[in-house]
Amino acid sequence: MGDRTLRGARLGGQSFEDERGIEFAARQQVGYVCPQNHAFEITMSVEADIPAHWECPRCGAPALTTAGVLPEEKAEKPVRTHWDMLLERRSLGELEDILTERLELLRGGEIGPAHLHRPAKGKKKTGV
Ligand SMILES: [Zn+2]
Repeated sequence: MGDRTLRGARLGGQSFEDERGIEFAARQQVGYVCPQNHAFEITMSVEADIPAHWECPRCGAPALTTAGVLPEEKAEKPVRTHWDMLLERRSLGELEDILTERLELLRGGEIGPAHLHRPAKGKKKTGV
């Protein structure tokens, strides 16, 4: 019975790696060269964002693309200062009011350095 099972099967005749006759989405070959000069190509969709780096299949080092994509192409993010954060919470008018209020307290002797700094009670040595 077993001799019929393989009849007609062309083993190895058709491989999934055979791309002939199959319609693929538009592709591009992106070249990479690793620090050890291993050059290789990666097939990518033309719509893909080309990564600046790709792991070298031979040594595992990050290879740099030859497609001209700059590594670290990140937009300059403006640094958010404490002042910016403060302005997100309080308007300038509110800040003026708070400042006036605090200045009045300060001048009235209700707040000030004496309240902010506790007198240090001798120096504590950290034991083992
Ligand atoms: Zn390599």
